[in-house]
Amino acid sequence: MNDIHADIMVISAHPDDAEFGAAGTVAKWTGAGQAVVYVVCTSGDKGTSDRDLTSEALIDIREQEQRDAARLLGVKDVVFLKYRDQELEDTPDFRKNIVRQIRRFRPRTIVTSDPYRRYIWHRDHRIVGQVTLDAVFPYARDYLAYPDLIQEGLEPHNVAEILFYAAEDINFRSDITETFNLKLAALRCHESQVREFGIDDLETWLRKRCRQMAEGEAFELGEAFYRVKAPR
Ligand SMILES: [Zn+2]
Repeated sequence: MNDIHADIMVISAHPDDAEFGAAGTVAKWTGAGQAVVYVVCTSGDKGTSDRDLTSEALIDIREQEQRDAARLLGVKDVVFLKYRDQELEDTPDFRKNIVRQIRRFRPRTIVTSDPYRRYIWHRDHRIVGQVTLDAVFPYARDYLAYPDLIQEGLEPHNVAEILFYAAEDINFRSDITETFNLKLAALRCHESQVREFGIDDLETWLRKRCRQMAEGEAFELGEAFYRVKAPR
């Protein structure tokens, strides 16, 4: 196993998506000694209503917020792909870039946003979920998919499963009762965004959400996913 290896890779559209979707579960994994890496596709350069803030300034702020949240959660590495916010597209270039990350880190599990959420859904979230799903199967797996990646030493890799956060259909609820406070603290790292949420009491709001996501389970607080096993 090379030292770049990750057990879990979270692929998100924007800084803060991983914390909203999966921070409690990420903290559980890292606490159990699993290596987690983040791949953040844009640096969230449109995420403000402050007219005095430029996109360039926001990139620096949001990348730092993401690094701070990741450090708090014990995430091993954060890769910024530097696409522009609101400009993710399902292109061969983007798909190949995701395949490149999968083949570098060789994760067992990938976590990303559900592309099939209906109606109002950030286009970047829809695109990153779809492109990641396609990258896992068949592109990361197939030897002939990218001969030039093989030249770079990036061999095919089979991901075992994908967990989609923000899913409408839920088939897996993760117990985050013990790591809820870390999720809350990680979300608070995204100070530029917490201002924008318009939520007076973040803890009460988050607790209520996580209680809903634990619905039907014996535990109190959860994160909910749609889990897909990838074919071999
Ligand atoms: Zn987002």
